[in-house]
Amino acid sequence: MNNVFVYCEVTEEHGIADVSLELLSKGRKLAQQLHVKLEAVVLGPTEGAKQKLEEFGVDVIHHCSEDVFFPYRTLPHFQMLMDIFRREQPQIALFGATVIGRDLAPRMASALRCGLTADCTSLEIGDHTDKDKTYKDLLYQIRPAFGGNIIATIVNPETRPQMATVREGVMKMEPAEKPSVAEVKELSSKGVLDATAEVVKIIDRHIEAQKVNLKAAQIIVSGGYGVGSRENFDQLYQLAAVLGGEVAATRAAVDAGFTEHERQVGQTGVTVRPKLYIACGISGSIQHRAGMDQSAKIVSINTDPNAPINAIADYTIVGDLNEIVPKLIQYYKKHSK
Ligand code: FAD
Repeated sequence: MNNVFVYCEVTEEHGIADVSLELLSKGRKLAQQLHVKLEAVVLGPTEGAKQKLEEFGVDVIHHCSEDVFFPYRTLPHFQMLMDIFRREQPQIALFGATVIGRDLAPRMASALRCGLTADCTSLEIGDHTDKDKTYKDLLYQIRPAFGGNIIATIVNPETRPQMATVREGVMKMEPAEKPSVAEVKELSSKGVLDATAEVVKIIDRHIEAQKVNLKAAQIIVSGGYGVGSRENFDQLYQLAAVLGGEVAATRAAVDAGFTEHERQVGQTGVTVRPKLYIACGISGSIQHRAGMDQSAKIVSINTDPNAPINAIADYTIVGDLNEIVPKLIQYYKKHSK
């Protein structure tokens, strides 16, 4: 009873989505701290899912392989998940802050009248005292608030489950030290889904190939508003090409039309952890840092020696990026293998 649940998304290839594996990594630690089990809900036909979930230490898998659950539609997933949650009474339920999670989690929270914290950047267990009453072992749902100016810790003392969404890349994907042996509960939708479940029919699907995969890039050359123009951004593409990396950007650079939105890193963009992040003409706002401060090495190129990004940079080059970036391209063209 009262375990930690992770709603696991099924990919196009019928595997488990990376964001769900990241949540399981965090969920396992929370469950260990609370001395409870880690349970996964997987709806839709899957291949190799059990083994993958066991690698991440899942104790119980709630699985329904029926085709009605793939591709995702709101009502079948909602009705099935409600049935599971009503029966199992999780104390914590985690969802990816993806298109699916952002659709499903608020609907669940509303139906269960339990609240939901979106886009958490950290999850911890702790106590909370309110009017002389102490609540033990609550889920601290931690996220930036008021435009990133404060970090809020949100708790849910009374209602259950304590629900949160987390964006892809925010939690580290860490398999368990030793795989678990999971109990699998094979479910049927019979008697669970009602007549409304399939009111939305999928007539056709078009899957857009992903053009940029910032998450997988080991080296990222990122440009900010200081790059100045779309034309100037070309030199970042050249530097990324000689280094074998990808190009990213700040929101200010994207808003100015220097590059596409899918390259935006930060609170409202992608979260990355490359080996090397070269920040060109980026001031280092808290919203940008939220998406890149876990990079192994950060290099800042900025005319302003006091730019906030320099405080988290391992190396700072003070100067005009229009002079420095071409020199770096020349150097690495000569010296890269
Ligand atoms: P600026 O802050 O304008 O910095 C430009 C930098 O370039 C300066 O440091 C300047 O010294 C330097 N510079 C200028 N010319 C040169 C030159 N020739 N050579 C070298 N350096 C030079 N931002 C994000 O990035 N990602 C997000 O996901 C995001 N989400 C947000 C969500 C919310 C709710 C809000 C309120 C804001 C968000 N922002 C986000 C915006 C964020 O607050 C900043 O406005 C933005 O990150 C600033 O981008 P920048 O560093 O490119 O621009």
